[in-house]
This record gives sequence, structure tokens and C-alpha cells, in this order.
Amino acid sequence: MPQVEAFEVAKDVFQIDTKLLSIPHFCAVYIIKGEKLALMDSGDHTTADTVLAGIRQLGFQPQDFSYIFCSHIHLDHSGAAGQLIKQMPKAQVVVHEKGARHLADPSRLLASYGSLGGDPALQALVKPVPPNQITSVKGGETFSLGKDKNIQVVATPGHSPHSVGYFYDQHKGLFCGDSVGVYLAEEKVLMPVAAPGYDHELALQSLKTMAALPLEALFFPHWSMHKNVKDIFKFALKQWGDWGAFAEGLFKAGKADQIEGKLRERARQELKAVQNRKSFFEYLTGELVTLSAMGYTGYFSRKTPQG
Ligand SMILES: [Zn+2]
Repeated sequence: MPQVEAFEVAKDVFQIDTKLLSIPHFCAVYIIKGEKLALMDSGDHTTADTVLAGIRQLGFQPQDFSYIFCSHIHLDHSGAAGQLIKQMPKAQVVVHEKGARHLADPSRLLASYGSLGGDPALQALVKPVPPNQITSVKGGETFSLGKDKNIQVVATPGHSPHSVGYFYDQHKGLFCGDSVGVYLAEEKVLMPVAAPGYDHELALQSLKTMAALPLEALFFPHWSMHKNVKDIFKFALKQWGDWGAFAEGLFKAGKADQIEGKLRERARQELKAVQNRKSFFEYLTGELVTLSAMGYTGYFSRKTPQG
């Protein structure tokens, strides 16, 4: 295994680049070191070995971990949990109660990914998490990692019904999953992410809930830690609001079939600064827009009374 990009990003918080889809600086997992060790998201089922290598490279041992905190059950955030837990015998996988059964039995989740064109050979890497190693939460719970190091669960539904954020009091930091979107600080890009099961109203509400927390840092899986929290939430509320309104406008004009194409045009414009990272740009404006279009279309269809 070549050297993994893994480093201390804040005191006793370590970031590992999982190199999802071989794209650098796209998908991160984090380690919090207290008296107990916690992994924040497992990363994708295709990058479990990178995460394990990163853990060891940083001088930790998988068997010493007490928790894997999953922000939600989309595969890039929890797909490796079943593989990792085999080497973390005393760890609990913490997940929203609406996602728990899919970690214990991924078959339904994989079927839905399969129907979206996911690769079955790769999906076979998604392993079940033993039920006795799953702790379900719904928001409000607190987990102690040691003195003055507590993780508090914050429900952030919208992006998915099973999204939660984890507030870490030591840094007043929130591990926000996908609930704030994909934020690329260097390129000044913030891309909302809808997905099947998306709820626009809840997504905006969750952004306001998160913005009201006493935060000094945001830890993004996509991508990295940032301290300009107020600016990010302002940007996020605008972007999530605008994209939703844009999709809604098309939907109400009877142009639901154009949502994907028009969103793609919009994304290609807004993400111009990412263009030189070719495969990343193509993923964001390709597959991710397709997913978002499904999320918006599903949401506005559910919202519209059937005649
Ligand atoms: Zn997600």
C-alpha cells in the first residue's frame, strides 16, 4: 500500500484521504483520539484498505477503536463499516435508527444502488455489521470519548432521512456528513446534494439547526476541516435554496424531464473552477447531478397533490 495522505488536522483529530474513485481530496474520514478512539464515517466499501492503512500509518491500531460514527448510510460514508468492524472487535457502529437495519443487512440498500447502475462485483465488498455492534440513534444522544471529549448526535435529515451530524465539544466542531453539501474551499464551490429520499424542506431546516449551534469548525467528508463556519452556512443556505427552487420551477412548469439536464448545465457553470481536476469535475457534474435530479424529482412529486 503506498503512503496514505493522513495527518492531524486539529489537535487529536486526524484526517485520512480515502482517495474515493482514485480522486484525491474528494472523500475524507476522520479519527478522534480521546481516552477512546473514534472513526468518523467508515468511507466507501472500495476504500476500506486505504482507511486501515491510514489508521496504522498514524500509529493507531484498528482493534483499539471504540466507535465508528456514521453520518448516514450512503455507501461512501458507511460502505466500509462491515469490513472495518471485523478488525475492531470492541467497536460500536453508531448510525441513525432509520439506517441501522441496512447496516445489519445491506441487501436492500445494495439492490437500490444496483438499480442505479452500481457495480455488483464491487458491491459484494459491502459486508453486514453484526447487530450487537450497532448502536442506533435519533439525535440528542451523547457519547464520551474521555474527559471533556464528548460527541453529541444532531439529527440533520434532508439530504437523507438517516443523516446525523456529530458535534465534538473539544473543538466545537461538527462532523456534518453530506448535510451541508460538497464544499471545496479552494475553488469556492458549494454544491448541494440531493439523493433518492431527499426532503428539501428538511434539508433547509437542518442547515438552520446546524448554523444555530455554537460552532467553530466544520469537518466535511467532501472535503476537509474549515473554520469560516458563518460564511459557509450563508453560502450553503443560498445554494441549497437556489438549487431546490430551480428544480421546483422546472417541475411546476411540467418540465420534470428537464431537471437533470438543466441542473447539469448549472453545475458545469458553477463548478468551472474544478474543471482542471477532470475526473472529479466529471463525477460531480455527472453521476452526482443524476442522483440529485432523482432526489429533487422524487421530492416535488411527493409534494404535489395527485389529481
Ligand atoms: Zn450522502
